[in-house]
Amino acid sequence: MEKIFEKLLELGNDVKLDEKMEYHTSFRIGGPVKYFIIPNTLESFVSTYNFLKKIMEIKVVGKCTNILPSDEKMNIAILSTERIDRIEFKNDIVLCESGVPLKKLCLESMENSLSGFEKAYGIPGSVGGAVYMNAGAYGWVTAENIIYVEAFDGEKIIKLFPSEMEFSYRNSIFRKKKELVILRVAFKVINGDKEKIKIKMNEILKRRYTKQPLEFPSAGSVFKRPREDFYVGTAIENLGLKGYAIGDAQVSEKHAGFIINRGNAKAEEVKKLIEYIKNKIKNVYNVNLETEIEIW
Ligand SMILES: Cc1cc2nc3c(=O)[nH]c(=O)nc-3n(C[C@H](O)[C@H](O)[C@H](O)COP(=O)(O)OP(=O)(O)OC[C@H]3O[C@@H](n4cnc5c(N)ncnc54)[C@H](O)[C@@H]3O)c2cc1C
Repeated sequence: MEKIFEKLLELGNDVKLDEKMEYHTSFRIGGPVKYFIIPNTLESFVSTYNFLKKIMEIKVVGKCTNILPSDEKMNIAILSTERIDRIEFKNDIVLCESGVPLKKLCLESMENSLSGFEKAYGIPGSVGGAVYMNAGAYGWVTAENIIYVEAFDGEKIIKLFPSEMEFSYRNSIFRKKKELVILRVAFKVINGDKEKIKIKMNEILKRRYTKQPLEFPSAGSVFKRPREDFYVGTAIENLGLKGYAIGDAQVSEKHAGFIINRGNAKAEEVKKLIEYIKNKIKNVYNVNLETEIEIW
């Protein structure tokens, strides 16, 4: 183990041993992982991935805003993209490394009078996580701005174009093929008026603060919308489940599509609450809910 640890340092990483995921997730939930690795550069990221892939299971994370890790000890290595966050503007193209926070992408686009990411403002993840999830809000989805993605397929870096990435609602090829790691993303933007972009972004942020329980830890909307005309939050609310809790995991009083951590929630409690909601929805509406968040 010491040899692995030394090699990880040598490859240009910061490494934390037995690091609790609760320190990293927006849910403030999650037990310890064997290695929590923070590569300092994209090159370190790729060589570390190459080194570890023969040794143990690797999970790549961005800002950990859409995951619910187990409470138990996990014998895995986490590769975080948090320091892989270079961003470059070239005319109407933005080149982002996968760890660029969406917030940074939105703000820097606005500063450069570039329109295209106004509706992404307030989504708390990274570019990599947004591509993986095809994150979206207010009618906008990540896929619509993508020109290409550079991904590591475990052996080499490949370039993927939108038609190859199987984008659909909160889905992409990356959710299916876990061996593909998003390294860089080229987005298109259009010239716009800085003030108008800023106003739109602030409007969007205000809507989020009004509707979402941002004062509590959560992972955003727990469930995918099963079809266009089925609003999960409203359905859960109509079942009288707003405020319903198992331990410290609670259906938000503000937005029933969110489960919040009231303080000391465990992953097991969140999972039980998810199952409880799924069963109720199935019994009353005959609808099968799927989770949007990733459960480890
Ligand atoms: C308060 C709140 C509000 C939210 N609002 C929205 C919203 O409006 N719309 C929306 O779509 N989502 C929303 N989310 C969910 C979440 O922010 C997004 O899905 C976001 O895109 C996840 O990015 P991340 O970097 O946090 O991903 P993580 O949680 O770190 O990872 C999510 C998944 O992506 C994978 N992944 C991450 N980076 C890479 C990479 N470089 N290569 C390959 N796989 C990768 C991980 O392995 C994991 O499976 C919200 C979450 C919160 C907490």
